Amino acid sequence: MSIITMKFGGTSVGSAEAISNVIHIAKRERSAGNWPVLVVSAMSGVTDSLINIIGLAVNGDKWGYLSEAQKLRDRHDEALNALTSPGKARDAVSLTLNKLIDEVVEICHAVNILSEASPKIRDAVVSHGERLSARLVAAGLAEQGVDSRALDATQFIVTDDKFGAAAPFWSETRSRIESGLLPLIESGVTPVLTGFIGATPAGAVTTLGRGGSDFSGAIFAAYTASTELVIWTDVDGVMTTDPRIDRRAKVIPQVSYTEVGELAYYGAKVLHPKTVQPILDIEMPLRVRNTFNYDHPGTLVTPHSEPSTTVIKAVTAVRNVSMLTVGGRGMIGVPGIAGRVFTAAARANANILMISQSSSEQAMCMVVTDERAAAAKLAIEEDLDAEVARNNVEEISIRDDIAIVTAVGAGMRGTPGVAGRVFQAMGAEEINVLMIAQGSSECSISFVVTETDLKRAVMCLHELAI
Ligand code: ADP
Ligand code: ASP
Ligand code: MG
Repeated sequence: MSIITMKFGGTSVGSAEAISNVIHIAKRERSAGNWPVLVVSAMSGVTDSLINIIGLAVNGDKWGYLSEAQKLRDRHDEALNALTSPGKARDAVSLTLNKLIDEVVEICHAVNILSEASPKIRDAVVSHGERLSARLVAAGLAEQGVDSRALDATQFIVTDDKFGAAAPFWSETRSRIESGLLPLIESGVTPVLTGFIGATPAGAVTTLGRGGSDFSGAIFAAYTASTELVIWTDVDGVMTTDPRIDRRAKVIPQVSYTEVGELAYYGAKVLHPKTVQPILDIEMPLRVRNTFNYDHPGTLVTPHSEPSTTVIKAVTAVRNVSMLTVGGRGMIGVPGIAGRVFTAAARANANILMISQSSSEQAMCMVVTDERAAAAKLAIEEDLDAEVARNNVEEISIRDDIAIVTAVGAGMRGTPGVAGRVFQAMGAEEINVLMIAQGSSECSISFVVTETDLKRAVMCLHELAI
């Protein structure tokens, strides 16, 4: 028998009807003679709601967080009632769900009194979304006669203490999954694990970053030696662009890890950028499929790329980013200036998404997320204050009205003229390109446009992919 790890996203567990599909998919796998391992996100909108609840508690809005918590209680209870029949089993699960919400409320009372919440407390609260949904899904499976158990990933995924964006300690995580989870799976139990969360060696709950349940799915898939990882979501697969931007988007039947990595890094929300990390070396097949159209084969992600008829396979966009420019005619003579700029940005915790430098070294540009842009600018200004005083650096500026557009396709490597086609298309649309970079994997080209041009840029580039 083989193990198949299946991760279900927020929409896929967002209502009793959606969870019925999840149950159908898990049962189908069992009937085919496999051992399914389920990894679930919080019900859609619940993580946002929990983040909002903490904000209300920090601001002293007790009525606000109590009423939000009540909404969460009602929503989970309603789904539980639709998925299970009345009786002791349902009552026990209902009690557990309500206790979890009570915990959220209790933490909020403390936060309310202190008027502040540390990242550690935030993770403790936010983790409840997945802890609730895992119990709900397990209850639905049990109702249908499947021997299932809800389990918190906190007992398996061991992480550092970077709350909000924790990184797993691989070997400890591996040994806990192998010794604690594998025997359970092999005894025929279908585990329903929480996505998104882990815990430090000392036991404090951490989260892996927004959208991190995909990463959790990959971790469990890797260490249970699954034959396949399936990311079940709300679209038919990885598409040529975000269908919310362009309705003409089509499913891509096959992409490589590298291509999907670039897509995810540059904004394709369908997969968390870290998803391929745990399965890359073992070359585990990854599939992206639709919970609401479960007979569709979806997208198969494999180690190597297959040629496609279009060189550009997909187009993505990243919003909420800023462009930082450091410029000045005297920069040519300053040794190590690029290194200092990047170090300063790193000190400000700004993740650099894109870099470009003109050959004359008169200016360098980088793109960082909006939220870290001001801090990065300040750190660079502090570091370069002597150069600014000497007029070697004349400009350190931010533009926050921009977005990144990326074209992805492994075929770009050996095909001349792709960049030419991309920028010709922009020129024909009279879209001003503010900055350009080619991915080091040579399978992507990224460029910056103003936010007002974003939709037009994606739409016209997408023409080259479909
Ligand atoms: P889940 O809750 O299942 O994790 P997400 O909302 O995180 O789902 O990701 C799925 C969404 O990603 C889709 O509904 C779609 O709007 C968006 N998306 C963005 N880019 C792409 C793309 N290239 N292919 C497919 N979906 C995309
Ligand atoms: N529930 C988490 C989020 O909304 C994790 C996930 O869904 O992947 O970010
Ligand atoms: Mg997601």
